[in-house]
Amino acid sequence: MCWDYWGVSITAAVVMGKSIVIIGGGAFGISTAWHLSQSLGEGRKYSSICVLDRFPPPSQAAAASDINKMIRTQYSDPVYVDLAMSAMKAWTDPTSIFNKHFHQSGWLLCASGSSVPFIEESAHNALRKGVRDVRFIKTAEVRSIWPVFTGSMKDWKILSDPAAGWAASNNILLEMAEESAARGVSFISGNAGHVQSLLLNESCTGVRTVDGTIYHADHVVLAAGANTASLIDMEGQHCALGHTVCFIKLRPEEVERYQQMTLIANIEEVPGVSLPRYREDNPRDDVPDEIQRRLRGWVREVMPELAERPWSETRICWDTETANEDFVICRHPRQKGLIITTGGSGHAFKFLPTLGTFVSQVLEGTLPRVLEEKWQWGSSTSVTNKHKAKPMFAAPIQELSDLPGWQSCSAKL
Ligand SMILES: Cc1cc2nc3c(=O)[nH]c(=O)nc-3n(C[C@H](O)[C@H](O)[C@H](O)COP(=O)(O)OP(=O)(O)OC[C@H]3O[C@@H](n4cnc5c(N)ncnc54)[C@H](O)[C@@H]3O)c2cc1C
Repeated sequence: MCWDYWGVSITAAVVMGKSIVIIGGGAFGISTAWHLSQSLGEGRKYSSICVLDRFPPPSQAAAASDINKMIRTQYSDPVYVDLAMSAMKAWTDPTSIFNKHFHQSGWLLCASGSSVPFIEESAHNALRKGVRDVRFIKTAEVRSIWPVFTGSMKDWKILSDPAAGWAASNNILLEMAEESAARGVSFISGNAGHVQSLLLNESCTGVRTVDGTIYHADHVVLAAGANTASLIDMEGQHCALGHTVCFIKLRPEEVERYQQMTLIANIEEVPGVSLPRYREDNPRDDVPDEIQRRLRGWVREVMPELAERPWSETRICWDTETANEDFVICRHPRQKGLIITTGGSGHAFKFLPTLGTFVSQVLEGTLPRVLEEKWQWGSSTSVTNKHKAKPMFAAPIQELSDLPGWQSCSAKL
């Protein structure tokens, strides 16, 4: 919008910053708030930024909230290898806020069935990109380097990357939120932060929360994770996938024995799909018996001495899964002012240092073409149409409500 005043042309966009509402304070939402807050203030790009979430950061319902998340660069898709390498630079940069939350423990990426091609392609890409020290390793060598792995790991293909590690995810989310708040971002939780609906009328002008509050904004960034489709029709681009987390508490005398171990992940396990059901709303929900049995079998293959220990905590953690495990980061094709940022597909956390940059590039129309095409609306079709190349979670997905031990949840996507 321009106007003339005594012959002087002034562009309003330069003078007036845009107001932003972000729905969801998980990986995409916090990273977006943190990046945009660097341009927040009078006479700057953004006049106000508000993050709405049911819970204060680190949101207990977020897939991003956890004690740890793996940070690695192995991907079968070279574009994600580049993106992960650039995120890794931030995690390992001693001057960044990310570095003190990152622990370089190394990791073993394992598969024994349909995810083997993902591992092979990842190794190939690592070689091409000059990632040093990534190599296939035999079970016997695993046992000799880390004597805590006494299990058979029978027929496992194992790729070792000593540069990978884990991040204390809750802690870094909290620090990013605190830093954003110090720059002027508002974080609103409870019913006043729980978004009930978007204000849509060819353009998205704001949101209404459960307590009836209306927030208007120039741009609404929808970053509601597995819950995204409850606020806008995603037209079959993703579904909610439940990943199971079970904890075993070590006894004090065991801590020393296990503390030097590397991360180990077998990505062959079958995740479950359903409508996302949060324990915050359904406190009696438990992990289905069948999944617990499989997880115990996995522990038995790696560390049999821990296999019969009781879980100290269990959780089904919901993320959005797209057909090709690509994110969706784009403007909504029909609702002006609405930006969609979702499709974490079980692997978005490592990009926490950079996700918000991509959202700011979408807002400014500067997202590199290759990413624009990859993450545009509709580039991922139905999740049942799994997928052209070599997905990480290649095993067929399973409907959770078909499994005994899961509280009855008849609705399906
Ligand atoms: C068990 C598990 C392990 C994982 N491990 C890794 C890993 O090791 N490495 C890795 O890179 N990635 C990992 N991921 C993937 C990564 O955590 C997710 O891809 C990422 O967190 C997705 O971010 P998000 O912002 O889309 O969703 P989330 O992080 O789930 O955040 C969504 C937020 O939106 C809020 N919200 C939802 N609905 C509303 C509403 N109506 N109103 C207001 N707020 C709302 C929620 O409360 C939540 O805080 C893992 C995921 C899971 C589930």
